[in-house]
Amino acid sequence: MYKAKAYSAASATSPLTRTTITRREPTEQDVQIEILFCGICHSDLHAARNEWSEFMSTTYPIVPGHEIVGRVTKVGSAVTKFKPGDLAAVGCLVDSDGTCPECRAGFENFCPNLTLTFGTPDKHFLGGVTYGGYSESVVVDQRFVLRILSNLNLAGAAPLLCAGITTYSPMRRWEVGKDKKVGVVGLGGLGHMGVKFARAFGAHVVVFTTSPKKKEDALRLGAHEVVVSRDANEMQKHAGSFDFILDAVSADHDINAYLNLLGRDGNLTIVGAPPKPLGVAAFALIMRNRNFSGSNIGGIRETQEMLDFCGQHNITADVEVIPIQKINEAYERLLKSDVKYRFSIDMASLKSE
Ligand SMILES: [Zn+2]
Ligand SMILES: [Zn+2]
Repeated sequence: MYKAKAYSAASATSPLTRTTITRREPTEQDVQIEILFCGICHSDLHAARNEWSEFMSTTYPIVPGHEIVGRVTKVGSAVTKFKPGDLAAVGCLVDSDGTCPECRAGFENFCPNLTLTFGTPDKHFLGGVTYGGYSESVVVDQRFVLRILSNLNLAGAAPLLCAGITTYSPMRRWEVGKDKKVGVVGLGGLGHMGVKFARAFGAHVVVFTTSPKKKEDALRLGAHEVVVSRDANEMQKHAGSFDFILDAVSADHDINAYLNLLGRDGNLTIVGAPPKPLGVAAFALIMRNRNFSGSNIGGIRETQEMLDFCGQHNITADVEVIPIQKINEAYERLLKSDVKYRFSIDMASLKSE
């Protein structure tokens, strides 16, 4: 065991503050990573404030962070995939049973015995929970450590581990590609990645936004068209024409307005998590054999595929890099969607503290 600097929250109402945590020494299958950047995901904030308590109650202290990019500092004797000095990345998962049908199919993200990167029971520390990426280092089983190509900007690459795979996975599943018309609803951390992937896959990309001010930015990110969703005429022009729509809105909204834009067999996948149930009109689905589906991150194999794709196409998130000392301020700004489009913490700021 060794000590590592970290930032943690002591309760649902406490700010994140500097602390010291205990990490395990790498076992034979483990990779120890010096964390260089960690993205800030909205679920970090939900967990820190125990806002998803019905679904998963937070154990305190909590060290959030599951968009981790760093450099390998030590490996166990059985590690073959990595050596000290390599770049490495860790996303939302750090362990699973490896034997259940989900794991065998490459969907460790749905394993009933999975270990999340932060806040779930840690089998290496009985009675303890895992600590995430708001820390100077982390130790992870090599099966859950990903490779990352060195041409990528590392601060911008960190959010690929959650925002990236969350948007990449459903687009691959629903075969977004050439000659497909794709919509992205909500231009935030998830949505802006959706635009980049849809464009890279060769689709015709349309961004829906409530704010005309975002038009220019949407086009810069790769959209071919931008529709102001409050303009019913503009919406009507696109009725029945989409193959796929990625809905990344986490607030209450009229889902039927978007389902009606899908063509025959079209699919709308929701990746945002509005707090209240959405009122889906059966007719919006029955007409044209439409599909309404959800998606939750991705398995390890697909996450690696996504990172490789990003390396080849030089895709990263648009980030605002902050020192960890600004974490509480960043959370407040996140609540106001005041970030383009993801915060990435430069962990050098923690080392020097
Ligand atoms: Zn996340
Ligand atoms: Zn499993």
